[in-house]
Amino acid sequence: MMWFLKGIKKRIKTENLNDKYKIKYPSVLEGKSDYNCPTGAIENNKWVKEKCIFCEKCDLKPTYKQDMYNINNNIPDIFKKSFYLYPIDSGTCGACNTEFNTIFSPQYDINRFKIFLSNTPRHADALVIMGVYTENMDKVIENAYDAMPEPKLLIGLGACSVSGGIIGEKISKKFDIEILGCPPSPYTIINAILKARGNVK
Ligand code: SF4
Ligand code: SF4
Repeated sequence: MMWFLKGIKKRIKTENLNDKYKIKYPSVLEGKSDYNCPTGAIENNKWVKEKCIFCEKCDLKPTYKQDMYNINNNIPDIFKKSFYLYPIDSGTCGACNTEFNTIFSPQYDINRFKIFLSNTPRHADALVIMGVYTENMDKVIENAYDAMPEPKLLIGLGACSVSGGIIGEKISKKFDIEILGCPPSPYTIINAILKARGNVK
């Protein structure tokens, strides 16, 4: 309700994705640092974006750029028509889930790009895996993936799932799309999915 009233007052309907982003952390870091990074995200003075948890302790400088993702495989064109996501929490701190849920809010309104939540893997195009590797959830992810129709994608969201982050071991699967950050911002999540679907150049 508050968002709705604020929106009317400020005449803001949804986030304009072409606006200059004002998010400092997480964003692409640049420069050099020999800081003893707690997650090993600095190797030979260079930044390893997959491992960074944006603790702000090193000398690397934020650029405010939100394009922190890897698209590792060709994404089938059929997903341009509609794209259904099924999230699985393998062992998160809760923040990745919060940012992921935010993209479906009126403020970000990802439904306008024909991207939706599915309430079963049987109707999903992509599994979105968040959190570190946990032995018991490994089987759950496997079962969910097996239940999905072809073609299907695996998306890793957050440093924990992609690299193990600060907490531990990374998810044992190979991801088609890796969305980076700890947690990734809604801008990064939306940018990554739109780019993978070929909606933006
Ligand atoms: S911000 Fe923190 S986690 Fe990221 S590279 Fe610097 S020290 Fe490592
Ligand atoms: S990547 Fe960061 S925000 Fe996401 S679950 Fe791991 S610790 Fe939490």
